[in-house]
Amino acid sequence: MAFYLKGVKLPHRKNTANSPAVELPPVRQVTIPTSMHIGAPAKIVVKKGDQVFVGSLIAEAGAGLSSPVYSSVSGTVNSVAELLLSNGSTCEAVVIDSDGQMTLDSEIVPPQVNSKEDLIDALSKSGIVGLGGAGFPTAVKFKTDKQIEELVINGAECEPYITSDTVTMLTKADLMKDAIETLVKYFGIKKVIIGIEKNKPEAIANMQKMSSETSNVEIKVLPSVYPQGGEKVLVYHTTGKIIPEGALPIEVGCVVCNCTTIAEIGKYLKTGIPLVSKVVTVDGDAIANPKNVIVPIGTLIKDVIEFCGIKSEIAKVLYGGPMMGISVTDLDKPVIKNTNALLAFTKAEAKVPKTTACIRCGACTNHCPFGISPVAILKSYKANDYEGMKKAGALLCMECGCCSFVCPAKIPNVQNNKLAKLSLRNEPKKEVK
Ligand code: SF4
Ligand code: SF4
Repeated sequence: MAFYLKGVKLPHRKNTANSPAVELPPVRQVTIPTSMHIGAPAKIVVKKGDQVFVGSLIAEAGAGLSSPVYSSVSGTVNSVAELLLSNGSTCEAVVIDSDGQMTLDSEIVPPQVNSKEDLIDALSKSGIVGLGGAGFPTAVKFKTDKQIEELVINGAECEPYITSDTVTMLTKADLMKDAIETLVKYFGIKKVIIGIEKNKPEAIANMQKMSSETSNVEIKVLPSVYPQGGEKVLVYHTTGKIIPEGALPIEVGCVVCNCTTIAEIGKYLKTGIPLVSKVVTVDGDAIANPKNVIVPIGTLIKDVIEFCGIKSEIAKVLYGGPMMGISVTDLDKPVIKNTNALLAFTKAEAKVPKTTACIRCGACTNHCPFGISPVAILKSYKANDYEGMKKAGALLCMECGCCSFVCPAKIPNVQNNKLAKLSLRNEPKKEVK
């Protein structure tokens, strides 16, 4: 597969770039899912009536790939409920009535880290998962026998509106520095590269100051081209390495972590407080006062949006940015570990454009970071041609949405690609004769 890396220029709309994060006032109740990561859901260890505090374990990591879950408030367990997630799957969730005190669990102490094994154990217990993407458990990324040549830290934040990573780079450089130094020391990482789009000059300056006080950290200023923060794109633009199709970054000696993930690692190593809250950018034309908000995990979306104020009737809410975000089915869904933004749009802004026939202009392929042809994928999908879909690159598609954005016929190419990928996941097994 060719590697074009073209992407698209998007309006930035970073309205909250200079808004320091503000704490959400205590909420009445939180609903904390056991599945906020890639892998097995966590196993609930509390029951109705139990008293919990901020940072109390409420669900331990499941077997294999998983991550523990901690209470984000102090209060009493109300119930264990089944929750329909926005991706259509279900999981158990712990509903906790908050006492409004936000009392920290008194048993929390910083982890003792004196070896690589100690550090992996600490990362596993921290509950930290990839906070900028799909929620891959962070400890697993570092649990490798391969030499980590480069730790690539993603500060690109290329989606419009979202500024929560920018806030991290502006306000948590000290925690990032501590985390980087510990990771480098125990994992023998040769080089750390922080990739930041050039539209964030203050964040770049702050990271350059931090890197000048830390050995082996380089700041790479990247063009503001979407999807600069896509894992394969970022690794190519920061190291020049190409991750083969279907492989993880470690295949080329890289581990990729979001900058907010790195800051959370620093906080956990310093305080022992596991991942219990997120900075969330709240924006969109239906929001009265866009801001970055520090939100306890499990807080309902409606509570966060109400805090920022509603100026016009909301027609659509997204978890994440306008290019890759997931549409929220109702506002009673919770903020989860990898929620970095909540965007609320009016009917006018959320309007779906009318689709016309494909004019074979090739813009979709020309702007795809990997040169994929959504037209070829769709043709094979309609013919149930599984090999054709694979050959056309359906499995390489990272669902960035560039091909939909540039299409003059307004064809929902990325949605079509998602359907093709889903059908490949359910591909009937071939009979062995
Ligand atoms: S959604 Fe997939 S096919 Fe479309 S531009 Fe992105 S990677 Fe390419
Ligand atoms: S950009 Fe749209 S109109 Fe042009 S080839 Fe692709 S799908 Fe067809």
